[in-house]
Amino acid sequence: MSEAPLLEARGLLRRYGMRRGLLGRPVEVRAVDGVSLSLHRGRTLGLVGESGCGKSTTGRLVLGLEPSDGGGVAWEGRPMPPPGTPAWRALRARMQMVFQDPLGALDRRLPIGAQVAEPLAIHGLPGSRDRVAELLRDVGLRPDQAARYPHELSGGQRQRAVLARALATAPALLVCDEPISALDVSIQAQVMNLLTELQARHGMAMLFISHDLRAVRQVSHRVAVMYLGRIVEAGKPDAVLQDPAHPYARALVSAIPHPGRRQARILLPGDPPNPADRPAGCAFHPRCPMAVALCAREAPALKPRPGDGRLVACHLAQGDATLPKAA
Ligand code: SF4
Repeated sequence: MSEAPLLEARGLLRRYGMRRGLLGRPVEVRAVDGVSLSLHRGRTLGLVGESGCGKSTTGRLVLGLEPSDGGGVAWEGRPMPPPGTPAWRALRARMQMVFQDPLGALDRRLPIGAQVAEPLAIHGLPGSRDRVAELLRDVGLRPDQAARYPHELSGGQRQRAVLARALATAPALLVCDEPISALDVSIQAQVMNLLTELQARHGMAMLFISHDLRAVRQVSHRVAVMYLGRIVEAGKPDAVLQDPAHPYARALVSAIPHPGRRQARILLPGDPPNPADRPAGCAFHPRCPMAVALCAREAPALKPRPGDGRLVACHLAQGDATLPKAA
C-alpha cells in the first residue's frame, strides 16, 4: 500500500518484573518484544495468537494506555506525544478502544444515552440528544433505547452501545480487543458485519485483536500472527490463513474446523509457552515439529520470504537452514 500509514509502531517493547515463587529470584517477562506494525485508514490489521502472546498488550501500547519500555509510535508521520500530556489527550479523541466484555465496559448505573454522550463532554465536543440518536442509529440501535440501562439490553445490543460510544468522537483508529468473544455465537456475525459496515462508512483504521482466526479473516486486510511477544508471520489473510508459512501459524490454522480440508490437526508437543521462561534462539523451537540445530542457537528475524515477500520469522522459510535428511 502506497498511502502513508495513519499510525506506525516500531520495535515496541514491554517488560514486566516478576518473582518465581515467594523467595525466588526476580525474572523479566517480555510481554511484547520488538513488535512493529502499520495501520492504514480504511484498513484492518488482524492480530492473532494464543492467549498470553502479547496481542492485547500491543493494542494498549499502540494507544499509549500502557508505557512502552522501548520503540516508538508515530501518528500521521510524527512521534506520538507522551501519554498523559495535553497533546496526547487531544489525540486520544481520535483513537478509541473496544473491549471484550461490553457489560464490564459500560456503567450499570447510567442509561445508554448518557454513556454514549460521555466522550463528547470529556473531549469538549458539542453533544446533543440528536447527536446521541444519530450515533445509536449508526450502530443499529433505536434512539428510544438511549433511556435503557445496560442490563436491559442483550449482549449484542450492549456491544453496539459500546461501539456508539467509541464512535462519538469520530475516531480515525479503533482498537478492538476480542470484541466478539464474550458474545453468543449467533450474535458474533452481526457484530462482525457491523464493524465492516462502520469502517466502510467512516473510513477508520482498525486493529482487530482476536484468537478467532475465522473472525480475523472476515474483517482484516492484513493479518499478523504473534507468538511469545513477537510477530512470527504477517501478510494478506488469504495467504497467511490458507497457506501459512510459519510452523506455529500452520498449527494454529490446522485447529480451525473445515469440512473440506484433508490436512489433520497439528498437535504441538510440550506445554504452552511461559513468557517468564523464554527459550533461547527461536522461542518456538521446543514445540516446533520442524526445528533444526540452528533454531536453538539463533532467533530468526521477521523478514520478507524469498519468492513472495511474505513476512516470516523462520530459518526454514527464509532458506537459512534446510531440514535434516530422513534416516
Ligand atoms: Fe521452527 Fe526453526 Fe522455524 Fe523456529 S526457526 S519456527 S524452530 S523451523
